[in-house]
Amino acid sequence: MAKTISKKKSNTIKLNFDTSWSYAPAPESKSAATINKQYDLFINGEWVKPSGGKPARLNDDSRSGGYFDTINPANEEKLSEVAEANVADVDKAVKAARTAYEKVWKKMPAKERAKYVFRISRMIQEKARELAIIESLDGGKPIRESRDFDVPTAANHFFYYAGWADKLEYAFPNRKTESLGVAGQIIPWNFPLLMAAWKIAPAIATGNTVVLKPAETTPLTALKLAEIIQESDLPPGVVNIVTGAGATGAAIVNHPDINKIAFTGSTDVGKIIQRAIAGTNKKATLELGGKAANIIFEDAPIDQAVEGVINGIYFNQGHVCCAGSRLYVQESIAKQVIKKLRDRIESLIVGDPLDKNTDIGAINSRQQLETIHKYLDIGKKEGAEMYQSSCSLPGRGFWCRPTLFTNVAQSNRIAQEEIFGPVLAILTFRTDDEVIEKANNSPYGLSAGVWTDKGSKIFNMTRRMRAGVVWANTFNKFDPSSPFGGYKESGFGREGGLHGLLPYLNLVN
Ligand code: NAP
Ligand code: MG
Repeated sequence: MAKTISKKKSNTIKLNFDTSWSYAPAPESKSAATINKQYDLFINGEWVKPSGGKPARLNDDSRSGGYFDTINPANEEKLSEVAEANVADVDKAVKAARTAYEKVWKKMPAKERAKYVFRISRMIQEKARELAIIESLDGGKPIRESRDFDVPTAANHFFYYAGWADKLEYAFPNRKTESLGVAGQIIPWNFPLLMAAWKIAPAIATGNTVVLKPAETTPLTALKLAEIIQESDLPPGVVNIVTGAGATGAAIVNHPDINKIAFTGSTDVGKIIQRAIAGTNKKATLELGGKAANIIFEDAPIDQAVEGVINGIYFNQGHVCCAGSRLYVQESIAKQVIKKLRDRIESLIVGDPLDKNTDIGAINSRQQLETIHKYLDIGKKEGAEMYQSSCSLPGRGFWCRPTLFTNVAQSNRIAQEEIFGPVLAILTFRTDDEVIEKANNSPYGLSAGVWTDKGSKIFNMTRRMRAGVVWANTFNKFDPSSPFGGYKESGFGREGGLHGLLPYLNLVN
């Protein structure tokens, strides 16, 4: 569309309002990152070969142990191969963590421990660019997110908990605290480096030692973090990083000399872990799935709310436990909001995760893409109306167009179950009571969002909503000083903030 504005009859300025323009590619350079061909296990401050033989796998006997590939989900190319830890390797890591705990770490003055934690934070900052590139290559998330969110927030976590290390008497006044011992930590693939930071930073700052397992599809930034830890001169064995799949995680959970399990992942695996540790005196925090309700009232600033909803569900391809995957819009503005959402998803840029313009990167794995497609079929069969962006998708790799469903019923599976992809289910409501009942009608209770002009309404909603975090007129905001965690099947325990110290401590008087 071209518009002509005439200044004088003889002098016309032609303004071009063509809407079909697109950004020129702006790819981040892969050459700023070093990825080894092969990675061993990081045990006792050293790189150790896996003992091989039969791996500790749960459902797949076809692999003989040793190493497995990690690929780039944006083009399915192999990035590196990574050691698979079996039961014997996990035992070696736990022994190293126990020795480091008894002989060095628990005896070290807290202010000395803090210096190491602080140093790790600074080294993450120094290597931020490389870490962001590797995060996007290994997991498929847009570089803008890994660069501006994952990596700086990971560094902030170490920085924040370094500060607490020698101030526990202020965190728990008049109480004496004691570290627990060896923490087994198991993390998912959606925020690989950030989840490692959420787990390791509070654990070591409070005097515990760690055996951590990253997810099978995204091990590389945790292994880069191991390199940083080695370079930081952290005493050997304080942090051990063992790679592998579910059975490696199970080997950690079942190890008799682990004092605490910190797990982030699916509710199904969370339940398996809870069963496995029942009757032991292992402490646990479980950060599990979610199905967050994002609620827009008719008095909300609509454009701001639409942008928040877009960020809430399409951020990181919807691979976010607290993603705003259920949208409740007040009936009077539903038509307007849905139109704006459709227009906005049409403008989202889907493609190369390393391109700085990309809004939506690759789905993390073929398996996750299949899960998302399964839910798209379920949604259509349930009678909901599906709308997808018309963008073209790359030929190779795992991709999903940003999708929204309208005409969704509260009982539909797409409104009840976690999809973990860029898929929004839109429902409507008339009154406050109705929307609270609908929002709380979920097995999960991790997070929620409220969009309204009225402060009183915000307080009313946050008080009555069964969700660990409720964002008001914003969404997906994180800070190391804020606690995070769920109700119901979203798990228990809190990570972050002062609350995040307690799961790693015993209060002894
Ligand atoms: P997952 O299948 O539960 O896996 C999480 C981790 O547990 C992975 O490292 C996995 O290994 C390992 N694992 C699998 N089976 C195990 C077992 N039997 N014993 C011990 N460990 C085992 O979850 P996911 O699909 O990777 O992650 C997505 C889920 O995480 C979603 O449900 C999401 O909501 C949740 N999540 C929650 C939060 C939160 O803070 N609440 C944050 C992020 C994600 P492999 O994958 O390597 O096989
Ligand atoms: Mg990968």
